[in-house]
This record gives sequence, C-alpha cells and structure tokens, in this order.
Amino acid sequence: MYEQHSTIGGKVHRIEQDGYSWGFGASLFTMPELLDELFILCGKDPAQYYHYTRIDPVCRYFYADGTRLDAWAETDRFAAEVQQQTGEPAVKVKQYLERIAKLYDVTKDIFLFRSLHRWRTYADRNALRSLLHLPQIGIGGKMHKANEEAFSDSRIVQLFDRYATYNGSDPYLAPATLNVISHLEYNKGAYFLEDGMPMLTRSLYQLALDMGVEFVTSCTVTGIHVEDGNTTGIKTGGAFVPADIVVSNMDVVYTYRRLMPEQQAPARYLDQPRSSSAIIFYWGMDRIFPELDLHNIFFSSDYAEEFRMLSTEQDISDDPTIYIYISSKKQPTHAPQGGENWFVLINAPHDSGQDWDAVAARVRANVIARLSRELGVDIASCIATETVNHPGTIDSKTGSYLGALYGSSSNNVLAAFLRHPNFSRSIEGLYFCGGSVHPGGGVPLCLLSAHIIDDLLSNKKA
Ligand SMILES: Cc1cc2nc3c(=O)[nH]c(=O)nc-3n(C[C@H](O)[C@H](O)[C@H](O)COP(=O)(O)OP(=O)(O)OC[C@H]3O[C@@H](n4cnc5c(N)ncnc54)[C@H](O)[C@@H]3O)c2cc1C
Repeated sequence: MYEQHSTIGGKVHRIEQDGYSWGFGASLFTMPELLDELFILCGKDPAQYYHYTRIDPVCRYFYADGTRLDAWAETDRFAAEVQQQTGEPAVKVKQYLERIAKLYDVTKDIFLFRSLHRWRTYADRNALRSLLHLPQIGIGGKMHKANEEAFSDSRIVQLFDRYATYNGSDPYLAPATLNVISHLEYNKGAYFLEDGMPMLTRSLYQLALDMGVEFVTSCTVTGIHVEDGNTTGIKTGGAFVPADIVVSNMDVVYTYRRLMPEQQAPARYLDQPRSSSAIIFYWGMDRIFPELDLHNIFFSSDYAEEFRMLSTEQDISDDPTIYIYISSKKQPTHAPQGGENWFVLINAPHDSGQDWDAVAARVRANVIARLSRELGVDIASCIATETVNHPGTIDSKTGSYLGALYGSSSNNVLAAFLRHPNFSRSIEGLYFCGGSVHPGGGVPLCLLSAHIIDDLLSNKKA
C-alpha cells in the first residue's frame, strides 16, 4: 500500500491542534455491518479493533423560523416529534420511511452491492427484480418533487431534501431514487465510532498489518506501467514496483491524467459533472454549548436559492445551511476540559477557479453572524483555535479532482451508470476503488467498492 503522506487515512485522517482534534472529513458513520463484515472475512473479531454505539437523536435541526426538531432514532418517537414541532402528521413520516425502506430493498442489489458494469450482475435474480421495479420507484422524478408530494410542511421537505448532499448532489436536480439515502440513517441507524471517525483508519490500518499488508508512506505513486494492455506495476519516483494487479484508490480522473497520461481515458465517465465540495472550519471552542448535540443542522431560510447558487452560480449563498459536528460531546478527550471541537461544514461547489480564501472569509463571517444570533453568544470570541479546508485544499491534500467530495455528481438519472466501473475495460489487472468510482462516495460505499473488486477477482479465478 503506497500513500503520499506520512500518515494514512485520506479524508478520514485526524487533525490535531492546541489540544483539540477533529476528523478531516467523514463524520457520520452508517452501515457499520460492512466494516464488521470485512474484519469477520479476515477471521478477526471486530470488537478487538473498535467499538460503536447507535446514536439518538441522530441529528438536531434548527430552522430559520425558530423551529427546533430532534430526529430521533426510533421511528415512532421521530414521527411524533415531527408532528409536534411542525404539524406534519406522524403517519406520513412513517409511511415515507416504509417507502424508502422498500426503495432500498429494490435498488441495493443493482446500485450498491454489485458491479453495474458486468453482464453477470444482470443475470442475478435480485438484480433483475431491481431492474423490473425501476419504473415504479420514481426513477424519472426529482428528489425535491417527490418529497413535496410526500409532505405538506416545507420544513420536513427540506429535512429529507438534505440527503442529496450526502453524495454531493442537488435535491432539485437529483433523481427521486436518491431519497433512499435517508433510509440508512432513519431505518438502519446512525452510529458513533468510539474515538471518532479517524478510529476507522486506525482499525483498518491495524487489520491490514495483522493480515500482512506492507505500508509505504511518504511515497507518491507517479505512474502505472502498462504493457500490451496488461498492468505490469507502478512507478514511485525513480523506482519501479512490479505488480500484475494494481488497485487505485486515488481519484479516478487523476489516476488517468497523472499516472497514465499515455493511455486513452474513458471520457464518458471522466467528463461527468463533479459532485459538490465543502468549506470546513475546524473550530476549537472555549466553552460548552448544551443546546447543541453531536450532529446539528442550521437550515438556510431558502433552500432552493442555496442550491441555485451552488449549481448555477458556482457560489455559496450568504445564508448557507450550516452543519456542526461535535465529537467531543461523546468523546471528551477531543477537546480540552470545558471546550468543544466544532467541525463546521458548509456545502460548496467544486473548484472552478474561485478565490477560495476570499470565499471562506465571507462564509465564515456569515456563519458566525447566524450562529451568534441563534445561540445568543458572540461565537467569534469563543473560537480558541481554528483551521480550515476548502475545495482547493481538499484537492491538493487528498488528490480529489476539483475538490469534489464524492467524485462525479448524481444529479442525472443515469449518473449511477456513468460512474467509472471498479475495473478498467482496456487494461487487464487494473482496478479502482474509493469514492470517485462505483458505487459512490462515503465510507460504506467505499467499503463496497473494495468488496466488488474482491468479487471480480474471485470470479476471474473461478
Ligand atoms: C468534508 C467531508 C465530509 C464527509 N462526510 C462523510 C460522512 O459524514 N460519512 C461518510 O461516510 N463519508 C463522508 N465523506 C466521504 C468519505 O470521507 C470518503 O468517501 C472516504 O473517506 C473515502 O475517500 P476516497 O475514496 O475519496 O479516498 P481518500 O480518503 O481521499 O484517500 C485517497 C488517498 O490516496 C492518497 N493518494 C492520492 N494520490 C496519491 C498518489 N499519487 N500516491 C500515493 N497516494 C496518493 C491520498 O493522500 C489519500 O490518502 C466526507 C468527505 C469529506 C471530504
């Protein structure tokens, strides 16, 4: 395993500063069974490596009109809370959650668990069933429209529209099938990994060491060597490392452009629009905010305008939705006593040449003004230490093309089919995993990408 930085973890590495610690990116942990499965497949007991607990509430919502709502893990309690805070009937929430559970059941075999790009997948009975059901599951409609049809209260529409951002999409453009994303949180559950998401890196690293994987850090891969249509190895600076199977977890666009510019790149995959990115402020706060929970959302007053700015103007509205994740609520060692580690994320367009330092300064001022109003304290004066990442630094630090968090966007109905496959069609022995390829970004889907590669290799041997 070759990693360009001295520490491993990419978008899940730990940042430490002045006694505070944060994860670089991922904060929400879903589908822990996929992580467990990996350890079990390796003959190991997950409990020897990590622990997690189901969180409740999953998220605390703050609306621009002053409404506050807790999204409880337990369906009846969540539905009752929605009815109490907004008047939206509890029964509609329960019906919606049942519908998205069915949607997940119908789509998972084709869109998540298998390669979309092998004929063998479509010969499978479950995948065929998925294909036959596609017209009934709203593949033609848009996410926002479907949510508007499901709920009469705009605050609940906004709540469920938000899940488009989990893969960097726009709810006003993304297909209604993406409503399946909230199923993972509401029906399957959201979890807290003890010691935060960077624990994921530490556990996987330890598992890999235990399985005999060798790590070479501070070592940039500079090329993939191909001869007569076969992978023969990688280049790292001056050295050549022979290998007849190469798996790239680098963004697929940079894999082609930087590591094998002489090969013809599959434009129909690589030219797809990029997913959104983010500006993240990592703030070490010098006090405790009891009104905040582990995951918090401060919604903008005009979601349609916010996404119009992101998708059409490639800019961030002056009233952006603000996500605050505070792992020290569960893991007090992530902040000095009496303080909190705020991970403050604002959706941003991918990089198209914006002056990100200037944008981040403007967004910071707007975020501080909104939070100071909502929480009744001068937030700026509570920030003891800070650092920031934006689309430009996400690109330069993790090698994500244009700083997109999840590779290509899923705003198009065919987007799932237009993500790069987990293998190369023209180069034997070359495979791709991670957030920029099928089935998509986010920790669970990245684990699935590795699983699919394992299946592809096993089928090849069979
Ligand atoms: C701000 C943010 C918030 C997110 N929130 C969530 C969340 O809440 N939940 C969730 O599940 N997911 C979330 N994600 C997504 C999740 O973190 C990623 O999908 C996941 O970590 C996998 O990332 P990746 O496949 O893009 O690879 P990365 O983590 O980017 O890893 C790629 C690695 O390759 C290395 N590399 C690149 N080029 C080279 C080279 N030439 N030579 C050697 N090494 C190289 C990089 O240094 C890096 O370590 C978030 C991501 C971000 C950035």
